[in-house]
Amino acid sequence: MKQLVRVGIIICGRYSSCAGGKCLRALRERDGAFSGYGGGVELELAGFTSCGGCPGGNIEYAPEEMKKNGVEAIHFATGMIIGYPPCPNLDYFKDFIKSRFNMKAVYGTHPIPVSYFEQYNIMKDKRIKDWEDKTRLIIGNEELRLKYN
Ligand code: SF4
Repeated sequence: MKQLVRVGIIICGRYSSCAGGKCLRALRERDGAFSGYGGGVELELAGFTSCGGCPGGNIEYAPEEMKKNGVEAIHFATGMIIGYPPCPNLDYFKDFIKSRFNMKAVYGTHPIPVSYFEQYNIMKDKRIKDWEDKTRLIIGNEELRLKYN
């Protein structure tokens, strides 16, 4: 029997009307940041919301509600990392979720789409700290980046 792991997704408030198509597909197909879970794990989405808009006030509340529904890991949607501009609060959010709720936060959901990847290559040396660490699970390959374009 597979181990059930419940995850939550938080998206950038700038995309708050997003229907989550790429994130949900990646979850189902175990692409991007969801490829990091082993084959013996069944994933279930048990929370989906936005940060509430800058500076991200919903991070204070949403993780607690997700935790009550069994969420163990909260994924920051790929748009928070490689949108224009990337969220400047990612490190703070991750530390806060860990220290306040004792929950794991993961950078990314679906693989970076091709169109964003080109911009990523232009900007990666200039933007957020620890960029490689934040994009490690979502960098994908050409095929995956096309699939999520
Ligand atoms: S940039 Fe960050 S704080 Fe601002 S809306 Fe997006 S995720 Fe929220």
